[in-house]
Amino acid sequence: MRKIKIGLVILGSLALVGLILSGAIYAQAVNPLQGKLIALDAGHGGDEVGAQYPANSGTSTTIYEKDVNLAVVYALKTKLEVDNNSDGQPDNQVVLTRKCDETISSRKSRVDMAIEECKSLYGRKCDALISVHHNGSTDPNYDGTMVIYNEKQDIPLANALLEALAPLTGNNEGLDHGGYGMTVYGHLVSALTEAYYITNNWEAQQYLNGTSTQVCDSKSVLIGKRVNQEADALYQGLLNYFSAPSTKPGRRK
Ligand SMILES: [Zn+2]
Repeated sequence: MRKIKIGLVILGSLALVGLILSGAIYAQAVNPLQGKLIALDAGHGGDEVGAQYPANSGTSTTIYEKDVNLAVVYALKTKLEVDNNSDGQPDNQVVLTRKCDETISSRKSRVDMAIEECKSLYGRKCDALISVHHNGSTDPNYDGTMVIYNEKQDIPLANALLEALAPLTGNNEGLDHGGYGMTVYGHLVSALTEAYYITNNWEAQQYLNGTSTQVCDSKSVLIGKRVNQEADALYQGLLNYFSAPSTKPGRRK
């Protein structure tokens, strides 16, 4: 009797260990961001420079928001495309609206470009679109983080991005419901991020400390610690968004 009891305890323990192990393997294998098709939009471009540092200076050392946006987009693209599970494929497919320093006529055309690229390159809808911007102020000491959404269905993504980005400045300016012109068709979930103020003295210095990196035809931007911190935060925000149990793009209320 005693032997049978011990045998049962051992069997039970083995089954439990097996369950825990398979659970661990399952948890490791499933990355909710894996296989997602992400559209990235670097705000402004070409003649449309966006915010500037120092404000309105127009000198050769001026930082243009359009370049910071492009730097973050390329840094995030690199992180999303890493092959973490070593299956020979990038983890995520990424499409870009603005690829270099071109001027894009309207924000609507950016959305149209994203939808078209996802469709023509991958035969399906993009799972999310992030439009990367940085804010501007006349006060060189002011900093803060804000995310703008357009439609109700965008709120979970906007919240996830804001939560991940806000620690960068420690000043959470919250979500803004803005008519930023990126009215999204075809249920493409999107949000516009303003991770920090490029007019802030400290932020500007962080960007200038980056390494000159050629990201597209004859166009170099500065990629350093701050740009990578922001790209990491955006990655984390996307991961949290796609981890949420209610994530069904286009079907949110
Ligand atoms: Zn902007």
